[in-house]
This record gives sequence, structure tokens and C-alpha cells, in this order.
Amino acid sequence: MNVFDTTDLCDRGWKLSESAVERKVKELLEVVAEGDEAHTTVVYHLFVNLTYACQVDGERPARPEKGGDGKYHVKGKLVIAGKEEMGRLVSLALPLLRAGGSCKKIVISPAARYKHGGCCSDRNHCTNILEKGYAKWMENALLETRSTIRD
Ligand SMILES: [Zn+2]
Repeated sequence: MNVFDTTDLCDRGWKLSESAVERKVKELLEVVAEGDEAHTTVVYHLFVNLTYACQVDGERPARPEKGGDGKYHVKGKLVIAGKEEMGRLVSLALPLLRAGGSCKKIVISPAARYKHGGCCSDRNHCTNILEKGYAKWMENALLETRSTIRD
């Protein structure tokens, strides 16, 4: 039987930013230094909460906000980070990827959200969900984020 030691460095609601990465790099370097890099796998789950945004016509895209029901709501239409934005996020995350040293690394790419249903029944939320080709659009957009992360 294989026995794995798992160290969880996840923080609930963690968001990718320069300062957040800096702090995580320190934590990760400590863990990596204590272990055996040849037998360590680092799983990175960094991008999903910044992949999705919502946009009301004529306004800048914003992050979905938590409503009174404790759920996140997409006001206006749902937008997905494009190649440029995704590239920016990956560059932000680079110090963290490097801190993994020669460990095996798994980077989890963003999974589909709101694909088959919106955040709620409010007609002003997720307004593009009923558009023709919406699911296909999401699949393609996520495929592109995946290839950007890989590059
Ligand atoms: Zn909603």
C-alpha cells in the first residue's frame, strides 16, 4: 500500500495576486525544502475564481458577487478570461510554479461553471445563457484558457 503525506496550503477564497503569490511561495518553499522533491507532486489550483467575470452592458467586467443567499451571482452576462488576461494570470503565478522546484507539478485548469444553469432565476443574471451556442462557446473559451496555461 502506498502512503502519501499531504500538505494542504489552500486558503478558502484565495485569489491570485502578486502579494498572495509572494506569501504562498514562502509556504511552498518551506514544504518543498522539508520533503523529497523527486517524490513530491505539487497540485496547483490557481485560476478558476479569476476565470469568470460578469459584465453589465456598457460597464467593465467585474467579479461575481456574493448575494444574501450566500451564493455568487453573475450580474449581466457571463464572460470568460481571454488569452491575454489568462496569460497575465499565468505570469502572476510563475513564481509559485517555480517554487515547486523539481517536484512533479499538476496545474488544474478552470472547469466549467454556469454551463447548464445560471446562478439563479433572476433574468438579469447570466443573461447570455440562453444564447445559441452558449455551451459550445464556454467549451471553446475554456479550451483556450487550457492551452494558454500550458504554453
Ligand atoms: Zn443570480
